[in-house]
Amino acid sequence: MDQKEMHPETLLAQAGGAVDLSSGGVVPPIQPATTFLRGSDNEPLNPNNIYARDHSDTVRQAEAILTQLEGGASSLLFPSGMAAIAALFRTVPTGGRVIVQSGIYWGTTRWLRDFCTRRQIVMVEVDASDVAALESACVAGMAQIVWVETPSNPWLKIVDIAAASEVAKSCGAILAVDSTAASPVLSNPLSLGADIVMHSVTKVINGHSDVLGGVLIAKSGVDIWEDIAADRATAGAIMGPFEAWLLLRGMRTLPLRIERMCENAMRTAKFLDDHPQVDAVWYPGLSSHPSHDLAMRQMIGGQGFLISILVRGGREDALRVIGRLKLFHRATSLGGIESLVEHRHTIEPHTGIPENLLRLSLGTENANDLISDLTQALEQ
Ligand code: PLP
Repeated sequence: MDQKEMHPETLLAQAGGAVDLSSGGVVPPIQPATTFLRGSDNEPLNPNNIYARDHSDTVRQAEAILTQLEGGASSLLFPSGMAAIAALFRTVPTGGRVIVQSGIYWGTTRWLRDFCTRRQIVMVEVDASDVAALESACVAGMAQIVWVETPSNPWLKIVDIAAASEVAKSCGAILAVDSTAASPVLSNPLSLGADIVMHSVTKVINGHSDVLGGVLIAKSGVDIWEDIAADRATAGAIMGPFEAWLLLRGMRTLPLRIERMCENAMRTAKFLDDHPQVDAVWYPGLSSHPSHDLAMRQMIGGQGFLISILVRGGREDALRVIGRLKLFHRATSLGGIESLVEHRHTIEPHTGIPENLLRLSLGTENANDLISDLTQALEQ
C-alpha cells in the first residue's frame, strides 16, 4: 500500500515504515553520529548526511510522519515548542507587525512581547475567537503573521481557522496555528487554510512526558519556509536524535491515546458540569461552550483532552481542591498519558486568569478512577 494513502492509525503504528533493514529489526535504529564520512573521492558516503546540525535520519523519519499527518509539504523539528515558535517569528523584519491571539499559552505571549519590543515589531493582541475583532486588527494595517492557538490554553477558546485564514490574507499575512491542544488526529489546520501549523510535541504527540520538542509544518509555497530551514541549520536549533527516536516511538500510539483522552475528558467535563462545587466548566465538547458547534466541525473525533474549571469560591478553595487530589499529578504541562492538574493563577498571576481556575489535562487512566478522585477532592 502506498504510504500516502494510509490512514493516520496505520501510518503511526508502523512509524511511517521505519525499520532497520541492516539488522532486520522492526524498529528503526538510532544513529547518534554528529558527523558523517566522506569517501576517498571526498564525496559524502550519503549525500543527505553531512553534519547532524543540518539534519539526521531519525529526525527526518519523525518529520516525514508529521508532514503526512498534517497534510503539509514539509516539517521542521525543533528542540522545544518555544524554539519552533521563535524560529517562525524571527522571520519578521524589524519594524514589522504581527497579530497574536490574546489569552493563549502564557509562555508564547511572554516571549513574543519581549521579542517584539526588542525588534520594534508591532504586536497586536486580539481575541481571535471573535472574527470581527480579528478583522478590525487586520484592517488597521498590513502584517507578516497572524498567530492563533486553538483550542487555546487555558481559556479553551476556539478559533475559526478558515475564517482567520481569509482575514490574514486580507492584510498580507500568513496564518500560523498552534494546534498543540488539538493534535493532528483531531484537526488539520492546513486543510482549513492555515499556512503553517505548529505543535509542541512535548505534549500529546509524544505523549509520555519524556521528550521536549516542537514542530513547524508548512503547506507548499510559504515564502519564509526556506529561511526558517536555513536558520535552523545554521543557528543550530535542531532536535537531537535520541529525542527524535523517542518521539517516533511515542507517536505510534497517538490515535489510541487521543481517543481515550477525549472520552475521559468528555465524561469528566459532564461530571464536573453537574457538580455543585464547580461554578463553570470550559470544554469545547460541552454544548454549553460558546463555540461548541465550531469545535464539532473543526475537531473531528473528539474535542480534546483539556478542561478548565472554576471551583466554587476563590483561590483558597481551588488550592484546597488541587491539594486533595491523589491521582491527578499536580504539575504543569499537558497531553501526557497521566492526568495533570494545575492552578494557572500561580504561574501567570498578571494575565487575568481567574484565581479559582484549575486546568485539567486528561490522561488515559480509567475515567471512573479519575472521577472518584475529583469527587473526594471536591467534597465540602
Ligand atoms: N503551545 C502550547 C499550547 C503550549 O501549551 C506550550 C507549552 O506548554 C507550548 C506551545 C510551548 O511548548 P514547549 O514547552 O515544548 O516549549
